[in-house]
Amino acid sequence: MENKKYICPVCKANKLLLKHEASYVYSYVLDSDAPGFKNKEIFSPYLYDRRDQTESFEYIECSKCKSKFDYDIFTSMKDV
Ligand SMILES: [Zn+2]
Repeated sequence: MENKKYICPVCKANKLLLKHEASYVYSYVLDSDAPGFKNKEIFSPYLYDRRDQTESFEYIECSKCKSKFDYDIFTSMKDV
């Protein structure tokens, strides 16, 4: 795959990251031992019974100047 260079429009650095940010609600059924059917001795947050995503979005961030750009706008800009 061709390694196309993405340049920050603000500081011209080649230090861009695509960030995917998401919020989840984890549910654990209260049973006789630790909360959650999969938790027996201790409560482990990753052993959830149900996970609902409430929100998610993607954006581009420059790790040098910390500018943030909308992902869709940025991908349409790259060929200009
Ligand atoms: Zn920058």
